[in-house]
Amino acid sequence: MQDERLFISDCHLDAGRPEITDALTNFLQVRAAQASHLYILGDLFEAWLGDDDPASAFAPVIDTLSRLAQSCEIYFMAGNRDFLVGDDFASRAGLTRLHEPHQLQLGDSRVMLLHGDSLCTDDHDYQAFRRVVREPQWQAEFLAKSLRDRQQIAAQLRRDSVAAMSMKASEIMDVNEDAVATLFEETRADVIVHGHTHRPAVHAYPGNLSRIVLGDWVRDPSYLSWTEAQGFRLNDPRVHQ
Ligand code: MN
Repeated sequence: MQDERLFISDCHLDAGRPEITDALTNFLQVRAAQASHLYILGDLFEAWLGDDDPASAFAPVIDTLSRLAQSCEIYFMAGNRDFLVGDDFASRAGLTRLHEPHQLQLGDSRVMLLHGDSLCTDDHDYQAFRRVVREPQWQAEFLAKSLRDRQQIAAQLRRDSVAAMSMKASEIMDVNEDAVATLFEETRADVIVHGHTHRPAVHAYPGNLSRIVLGDWVRDPSYLSWTEAQGFRLNDPRVHQ
């Protein structure tokens, strides 16, 4: 099999949107089955309250991932929706967890992978929230609560987040270009790949640098591919390259 890397994020799988689960399952079985590596850069799930949550809506996806894992290396990085994905999920799905930013060498390019929320530094409230929920102690305490309590807390957090988002200008929910410049500088990356903002695009920067933003899944698959021969290609119904 040729070395072909695929990158996806922001499927936001949700029992209320079975068509997205179907689209992803089909993508994994047909498209990803031809690839050597699949990178899932966060927000695969709309919400993930712990690996012990028996919510069975996702069981078929986890099965499909574990079958795919027999021929394709699968990597998962947490997003702001599924930061509680743990080792149990990883072993059931046959994938390897990555911490961001994760560096890859692809051909001549040094590539940095991240979910993308860490670049949205204009949203101070969100960054404060992120610091709290990414702390191991907060996570351990949350996961020690009953599933029912976790569901209630998550529902409240979601209501707060929807209320807060409706009051924020859309620019502050996009990446901050200074944060992008700092990441390029500190990591010496040639290419940054992230999701989160739901604004699929390829942005060029001076010095032959680029930032590729993965798309969210609305109905059709949205993914980035890389091969040595073709380089990166963003396959998204909203993007024309
Ligand atoms: Mn996100």
